[in-house]
Amino acid sequence: MKIGVLALQGDFREHIQVLRRLGVEACEVRLPADMDGLDGLIMPGGESTTIGKLAVQYDLVEPIRKMIAEKKPVWGTCAGMIILARDIGGLDQPLIGVMDIVVQRNAFGRQVDSFEAELSVPALASVTPPGKSPEPFTAVFIRAPVIRAVGPGVEVLATLDDGTIVAARQGTLLATAFHPELTDDLRWHQYFLTQVALPPAPRNGQDT
Ligand code: GLN
Repeated sequence: MKIGVLALQGDFREHIQVLRRLGVEACEVRLPADMDGLDGLIMPGGESTTIGKLAVQYDLVEPIRKMIAEKKPVWGTCAGMIILARDIGGLDQPLIGVMDIVVQRNAFGRQVDSFEAELSVPALASVTPPGKSPEPFTAVFIRAPVIRAVGPGVEVLATLDDGTIVAARQGTLLATAFHPELTDDLRWHQYFLTQVALPPAPRNGQDT
């Protein structure tokens, strides 16, 4: 499996390191040709306006939309989540704009620039040894967005204690408002690789 990480701006290096720690081939994506042969894509945190503008400039918007239309897994963390969203409250900035979520940028304001929160995430049971329930995930939020609403096909994966949605999945699309690549807990990357990524199609029936 080969996973690309959008490497226009933001903390793409940390995602690549985590993928490599998990034994997955990972590469930086800056140009459409870098997307050849990818099985999935991660869009990292950073500054969504900058990442969006550079994605337009480097002709990456349509190839990423095509990849999503082909049902390849795409995960947006923080700024990446903003870029995936269909609706960011009318702000004028370039988006991939396909995931049926309404996102509010900088939802915690200037007073709370960054914080950590313990999230209970039932979906991480899929990457927890059998018979054990998943430990809480310590999520790092940095000038974070939140999800204000989700469409009918979207599964909410994690909320803050007050009910604010901070992680969601729509088929092969995953969105997290926080930064799993900045912690030593690799479960969200494992979840993306093993649960969101579709199993490879059987070749000539030999794999069945
Ligand atoms: N506040 C940033 C934005 O709106 C996102 C922050 C992040 O990715 N950590 O683009």
